Amino acid sequence: MSMIRVQLKPGREKSILRGHPWIFSGSIARTSGGDAQEYSGHTVKVIDADDNFLAWGALSPSSKIRVRIWTRNQEEVVGPDYLGTCLEQAIDNRKQFIPATEVNAYRLVHGESDGLPGLIVDKYAGTLVVQFLTCGVEHWRDTLVDLLREITGCDSIYERSDMDVRRLEGLSPQKGPLKGDAITNPIQIMEGNLHYWVDVTKGQKTGFFLDQRENRSKVQEIAGNKSVLDCFAYTGGFTIAALKGGAKGVTAVDSSGEAIKLGRENLDLNQIPELSVEWLEADVFTQLRDFRDRNRSFDMIILDPPKFAPTAAHAQKAARGYKDINLLAFKMLNPNGLLVTFSCSGGVSADLFQKIVAGAARDAGVGAKIIGRLGPGVDHPVALTFPEGAYLKGLIIQV
Ligand code: SAH
Repeated sequence: MSMIRVQLKPGREKSILRGHPWIFSGSIARTSGGDAQEYSGHTVKVIDADDNFLAWGALSPSSKIRVRIWTRNQEEVVGPDYLGTCLEQAIDNRKQFIPATEVNAYRLVHGESDGLPGLIVDKYAGTLVVQFLTCGVEHWRDTLVDLLREITGCDSIYERSDMDVRRLEGLSPQKGPLKGDAITNPIQIMEGNLHYWVDVTKGQKTGFFLDQRENRSKVQEIAGNKSVLDCFAYTGGFTIAALKGGAKGVTAVDSSGEAIKLGRENLDLNQIPELSVEWLEADVFTQLRDFRDRNRSFDMIILDPPKFAPTAAHAQKAARGYKDINLLAFKMLNPNGLLVTFSCSGGVSADLFQKIVAGAARDAGVGAKIIGRLGPGVDHPVALTFPEGAYLKGLIIQV
């Protein structure tokens, strides 16, 4: 623990008292007790304008999010015991909700919402993939790795902190095996009756989009006998689910050739005939226009684009992107067709997303109704005090 004290401006303690885990640099009146740059990731004491204790938090000297709260309990010592308790709690929660005999890949730790700001831990069978995204968890990285090993019994731990967000913290992107662990790659995982190869060393994020697990299961339920277009298909997560659910055939579009390559292997892994899928390595925006011009139509279209708006500041530009693809999709759905559409942009609220999709339907000239609302699975909790954690939202719409 450092002797650094971070004192807030008058009135700026309110969001902390309500439980929000971030302190922005603009809320801080003064930082005393040492040169903040020398204490990156160290635990600092946060006090209000009248010197009252508010919390212990981790210091990020270069970030606009200057402090992330560990605990509001003054007696607590932030160290291995405290971090171990947080990890155990997060991991126990998953054990309670995810049947280990059916699902062996899920998120063990989901950052702020599990009380561990900046820490992501995904489990892929016997391998853990970890991201340290903030100075606080970077500071404790060795302790956290040792604790994870101890609590989970997994000896195979790989780091995928190769994320640009680390630059906002003054940290450089980083990846590789932790403490010399050799890992097998790709890794085979199981989500009920769905099986996938996950490339944890070169795949996107930690290798797979675990947040869509329950939605893949939903797609499997509703895809029976349908012709499906899977846009932004990555390694075929939804494609495989739709085919296992009895889809007539899938057209899968993604701009990444590497992802499609693994997607083809995923078909084989699930004993699905190769000819069930038409893979297109293409830009979805261009491909949808091409389909429209050729009058292609589908019974079900899935849109799961990458994040268009990381923050609310990008919301307008993102809205144009979402509207464009949703409008094109509405135009090529057969009567009674289903649109399964997602946004994983933290900067676009569920409410705004619904408005954008409604605007797209109107401009496409189709009547449509919401028949389902989708979100991330139980292993991606959203703390009520941290609405920023609610990034993934989806709608099932029938025309
Ligand atoms: N649906 C996937 C996850 C999609 S992630 C699943 O459930 O596993 C977003 C995907 O969009 C990535 O695979 C990325 O390669 C792809 N992508 C990003 N921009 C694209 C574009 N303009 N056109 C096509 N694919 C794109």
